[in-house]
Amino acid sequence: MSATTTLPELERTAPVRHRPALSYELFPARSDVSFERLRETITQLEATAPDHVSVTSRAGHGNLARVLELTEHVLAETSLRPLVHLTSVGSSRVQLETIIHALLDRGVRGLLALRGDQPAGHRLEEDEIPFARPLVELIRAIERERTASLAGGRVSIGVAAYPHRHPESPTTSHDTEVLVAKERAGADFAITQVFFDPAAYCHLLERSRAAGVRMPLVPGLVPATNARRLQRLAAMSGVEPPRELLHQLEIAADDTERRRIGVRFTVDLARRVLDSGAPGLHLFTFNSHADALDVLDHLDLDRWSTPSQGENR
Ligand code: FAD
Repeated sequence: MSATTTLPELERTAPVRHRPALSYELFPARSDVSFERLRETITQLEATAPDHVSVTSRAGHGNLARVLELTEHVLAETSLRPLVHLTSVGSSRVQLETIIHALLDRGVRGLLALRGDQPAGHRLEEDEIPFARPLVELIRAIERERTASLAGGRVSIGVAAYPHRHPESPTTSHDTEVLVAKERAGADFAITQVFFDPAAYCHLLERSRAAGVRMPLVPGLVPATNARRLQRLAAMSGVEPPRELLHQLEIAADDTERRRIGVRFTVDLARRVLDSGAPGLHLFTFNSHADALDVLDHLDLDRWSTPSQGENR
């Protein structure tokens, strides 16, 4: 084929090359009734053609059956690709190997390698993987063993990154070293912990690039419409939402007003990080599509526009 050959069909339909990535985080259902609601949420989110949906896991994989249920649903009954969260804390290496094989057998090709939150007073077992980095190495080792059955394809591995210092880290420089090590071990991309200040994301980007991190750092955003949820998140992550935002949500007249305030805040945050070079957005949905879709509607991400005449020639 000559270098000047044109591909008329593709030119008409191909999305622009640097469209922002889009993904949603879901957690496995806790009951059959909530699974039914979750299926509806997934259908609604699917209409926005995300690049993947991530499936969270509890530390220790105590809800593995529900993780598999959701993953299998996504694979078999939707056009979406799952990114399954794997946590090392509370599981033995052998258990993790079994889970990784089971996920690959089902057709999963995206894994988010995490340590998980350690319960207070947690004592590491002898065969427990202590950090996310060695979990990335374990996934890559299994991938190498299975190269033939994966038809030479690769498993896409994501890891966590922190705009604010991880609560157990001595410094943000330490966090940066850990991120560098995770990339060297084979991570392809990172999704960030929640944050509310665009400057926190920009600083993460700057210090990571200065330290040699090349992988995309996708900002994780929560639609900030619910004060109680933001406070629960703060307790888990150590990242406090702005007091003014909490105040506005608390004094809002009703849910419609709360939603308007939260969506406006989130859209503004998303625009600012995209303008600062974020490669896309990962929305923590809390298994509810309405707020996430509202944020997307207001953002009007240019994900599906076709190249203009003459572009790519
Ligand atoms: P690591 O990268 O291993 O870091 C953990 C701590 O150890 C950090 O303080 C780090 O600085 C330190 N550290 C790392 N390596 C070393 C080393 N070699 N020497 C000394 N110290 C080191 N949790 C869940 O349980 N389930 C989920 O589904 C889940 N999904 C998440 C999704 C996203 C996008 C994010 C950002 C977090 C998620 N978490 C989840 C939370 C995550 O498990 C916690 O933040 C956890 O405390 C750290 O996980 P990590 O993978 O970043 O760990």
